[in-house]
Amino acid sequence: CGIVGYVALGTTPDNKKFDHTAYDVVLEGLRRQEYRGYDSAGVAVIGDNGIEFRKKAGKLVNLAEAVEASPLSESSIGIGHTRWATHGGPTDANAHPHVVDGGKLAVVHNGIIENFAELRSELLDEGVQFLSETDTEVAANLIASIYNKLENKDLTEAIRLASNRLEGAFTILAIHEDHPDRVVATRRNSPLVIGLGENENFLGSDVSGFIDYTKEAVEMGQDQIVTITGEGYEIIDFDGNSAEGKPFHIEWDATA
Ligand code: GLU
Repeated sequence: CGIVGYVALGTTPDNKKFDHTAYDVVLEGLRRQEYRGYDSAGVAVIGDNGIEFRKKAGKLVNLAEAVEASPLSESSIGIGHTRWATHGGPTDANAHPHVVDGGKLAVVHNGIIENFAELRSELLDEGVQFLSETDTEVAANLIASIYNKLENKDLTEAIRLASNRLEGAFTILAIHEDHPDRVVATRRNSPLVIGLGENENFLGSDVSGFIDYTKEAVEMGQDQIVTITGEGYEIIDFDGNSAEGKPFHIEWDATA
């Protein structure tokens, strides 16, 4: 179970500032994290027409083949996931990302949402339809439901409010088609590290998720939320207070 998030400044698919696309970064990051173990993999990016995603049970090569057969837009923002199934078998439908709210919001998640059954029945009452058996899809729909009720349509705030309703251990990353300049992530008792580049920033379950692109990283605390853009990052706690991360330099020769 690995997670990767990526965003670069200038989120148009024809952005040529970088020699890598969001998909390149995500796939490489997931490859580096393969050692963590997984049974499925997936990726989501934002293209001209909104969220695009591919997800496949099995090895990363299955995902890569799916993308080859049906390429994704050259995007500057993306999230990726390798899954170790806990709720629902290792199928394409249960693989992450879970794309909800009519395709507007994509979510990946490592960990377990312990109160998913209770949240699921609340969301069913709201008319939500579920496409998978995962606890993750419940969290994704909770975020969407909260987001849609917010007047200011602040994705970070929606994820903060959702985090306060989620029990268990989780690292969750989200991208929304209304905000193609940011990846928002929340964590509780589950790993997440920020990687800092120049006009591009990263998230990973550990530094191997972005080691090919930067050696500058930031450690964050538990029960915190980070919003990354191409320009920087901002951390808050679950009460909405701003928080400081701990910057560090990665001492690791990735070519070794
Ligand atoms: N509980 C989630 C699922 O079964 C995430 C598992 C993981 O950490 O990969 O889909």
